[in-house]
Amino acid sequence: MLAAGLLYTHTSSAQKVVEPKAMSDEWSKPYEPFRIAGNLYYVGTYDLACYLVTTPQGNILINTGLAASTGIIRSNIEKLGFRFADTKILLTTQVHYDHVGAMAEIKKLTGAKLMVDEKDAAVMQDGGTSDYYFGGDHAVFKPAKVDRLLRDHDTVALGGSKLVLLHHPGHTKGSCSFLLDARDGARTYRILIANMPSIIIDGKFSEVKSYPGMAADYKRTLQQMKAVSFDLWVASHASQFDLHTKRKAGDNYNPAVFADKAAYQSKLRDLQQSFDKKMKE
Ligand SMILES: [Zn+2]
Repeated sequence: MLAAGLLYTHTSSAQKVVEPKAMSDEWSKPYEPFRIAGNLYYVGTYDLACYLVTTPQGNILINTGLAASTGIIRSNIEKLGFRFADTKILLTTQVHYDHVGAMAEIKKLTGAKLMVDEKDAAVMQDGGTSDYYFGGDHAVFKPAKVDRLLRDHDTVALGGSKLVLLHHPGHTKGSCSFLLDARDGARTYRILIANMPSIIIDGKFSEVKSYPGMAADYKRTLQQMKAVSFDLWVASHASQFDLHTKRKAGDNYNPAVFADKAAYQSKLRDLQQSFDKKMKE
């Protein structure tokens, strides 16, 4: 998501990393981890969604939140009864600092393999300096080496579970969603972890020289996202799928609350309107 305003320095070692100021206190506020459905769990902060897919051969972590969120994610994983050290694969829905801020640290601590949409890999590896929006003369998150490049419909498999990447560029060049078939006893839920295509630039698409083709990417992504079929859905930010109205702290396991397809389509219609409006500017 977008961020603006004051900057503060949070590390300075070999490469200076200046994380933009969080847009909301909810980005760093702890939140209780919970089981979404089958082997998919929420382990993020109050708003910065991070997901854990557990398998008998280790776990997959999707997104990390801000640089300071490592401790929250680690303790959330442990509260659920899993081991942080069992994290084998790291994924992200977009390489902005509010989703990959702690990626380098978590990669170092766990030794997990980092797999990134090929169009976002350069930004992941340069700490955001080449990002069309946050880019500039300093990194906005600690860079991490990408171990595997992912393309549209590539599969990430571990311990009998698999995630399919859906390339949904626009918000970043390699923004993506994931489809997971989560087993829960006799039932299997097809779960969409969606990267909603929000627009953060102020001016026209054509003015963003470092991202030619941005408008065409948003257009295609909006079309494709409307056509995805799934049983349950969640997103990169808790606010994007109304987590806190669907679920209150302490609620029992209830996958059905994440089945609201009307809300998904309605949010995409709103995003389509923002896109159409910007195209007319
Ligand atoms: Zn973003």
